[in-house]
Amino acid sequence: MTKRDYIKNPLRIFIGVGHGGTDPGAVNTALALEEAGINLTIAMLMQYDLKRHGVQVKLSRNVDEEDRLKEEIAECNAFAPDFAVEIHTNAGGGTGFEVYYQLEPWEHSKASLQMAKLFDENVCKYLNVNTRGLKTNRNLGWLKQENTSCILVENFFIDGPRAVWYSQPEQLEKLSKAYVRSILEFFGITYLADSTVTLRYKIVNEDLNTARNCTCPAVFINGSYYVQLRQFSKNLGFAVYYEEQTKKILLYPPEYYTESEFRSGLLKISDFETAMERAMAGLPVEEAETWQFDESETEDVCVSG
Ligand SMILES: [Zn+2]
Repeated sequence: MTKRDYIKNPLRIFIGVGHGGTDPGAVNTALALEEAGINLTIAMLMQYDLKRHGVQVKLSRNVDEEDRLKEEIAECNAFAPDFAVEIHTNAGGGTGFEVYYQLEPWEHSKASLQMAKLFDENVCKYLNVNTRGLKTNRNLGWLKQENTSCILVENFFIDGPRAVWYSQPEQLEKLSKAYVRSILEFFGITYLADSTVTLRYKIVNEDLNTARNCTCPAVFINGSYYVQLRQFSKNLGFAVYYEEQTKKILLYPPEYYTESEFRSGLLKISDFETAMERAMAGLPVEEAETWQFDESETEDVCVSG
């Protein structure tokens, strides 16, 4: 199977946000928690995180409003996602996380089970908990979708020992990230370091009539996006050269240089010692060791000889 080109054909994810409006779902009065709100918070965190990876996301609701299952399913099918996730929060005094997968239609069940496994593993791993494992339930209407593979998650119990997590933003973020990592892993997309986003833009071709879609990793610093110069230039058809002596970055039209002439001098994050240098170069300002850009990528820079 050839790997899908997510630049030309972005991944589409639908998130069903359980309950809302007159239906608060499960409640915990002592801690003033309502399931409908928790589900929405997690869905919105997921949306932000997925979008920065260039994924197209649709939520069944973005505010506290009525959101019936029938409408959710119709909306999901209209969006035609690659995968759909329904978010709920468990109740009834138990403990742990659980995820439901589809048995029918059978053509979706394999993907649904595989995704459910990833959710289960990542929740275990990133929240350092045991889970209740994978479940299935023929009576859950969401799982009867005809058009899309999907799962249904039950977040930790709103009335269980971990209910306090719902008042802790860092725990909510951890949980939503575990979900997002699972979705991306399933589709073979690498999870980006926290402050990185995927910028999407078009570059007009030389015929001035057509354009091509490009993406480039970027970091958000003080209100501005800084692009990774090497990737950005590559999309434009330039190679980037970092001159050791002058500490200057130069762009070269690739046809003038052979790859071997370049290789030793191609841009490396570690060439920029201070945060300011990195910011000016459009590179991440964090310490190089903590950054995930792959410096070995230099072979990919197309410098034809
Ligand atoms: Zn629910």
